[in-house]
Amino acid sequence: GGSPGGPYRVVLAGESGVGKTALAGIFGGLPDGAPREDEHPGESDTYKRRLSVDEERTTLIVYDIWDQGEAGGWLQESCLQMGDAFLLVFSVTDRRSFSRIPQTLLHLREGSPHPDPPVILVGNKSDLARSREVSLEEGRSLAVMLSCKHIETSAALHHNTRELFEGAVRQIRLRRRRP
Ligand code: GDP
Repeated sequence: GGSPGGPYRVVLAGESGVGKTALAGIFGGLPDGAPREDEHPGESDTYKRRLSVDEERTTLIVYDIWDQGEAGGWLQESCLQMGDAFLLVFSVTDRRSFSRIPQTLLHLREGSPHPDPPVILVGNKSDLARSREVSLEEGRSLAVMLSCKHIETSAALHHNTRELFEGAVRQIRLRRRRP
């Protein structure tokens, strides 16, 4: 997307089962995170909404199609081409999903037409305290090491979910306004 007011395109990436669909569903405004059935059949994994961030209106389109493609396949390649920002999601209850982050981030950065696309590292399922395998500090320091933003969310409790999508809008705006 080119214009300052959007639409901005945000791609959810990360391993299967980490909560991408649940987060996308919250963005789409559904309490249970189920795919919306609307006038665009076959696109219920794509959510478009207008929202106000810092008193400025933006159209944001969120794509939850990462899992439908294979690594290096055409679908993921088109995600990389399309994304103005990426939400790279892992589950704090799944260390394996965390350990795959550096490789997936490299893939995002190499495949994106933007020189330095905004990436937010998302530690989801923060509500599952007893089965946590990745600490907040580990998530933070990986994000520092990889030069991306970091946030912990709970799709189940809707915790930090609004902040996540607003943060993506802010990151995209910052890049656009850089001279
Ligand atoms: P995806 O494969 O990355 O799209 O993951 P899903 O959104 O399908 O979520 C996988 C499973 O984790 C589902 O059973 C969700 O209900 C559950 N889940 C997703 N996010 C959360 C969360 O924040 N907390 C808890 N407790 N469960 C979650």
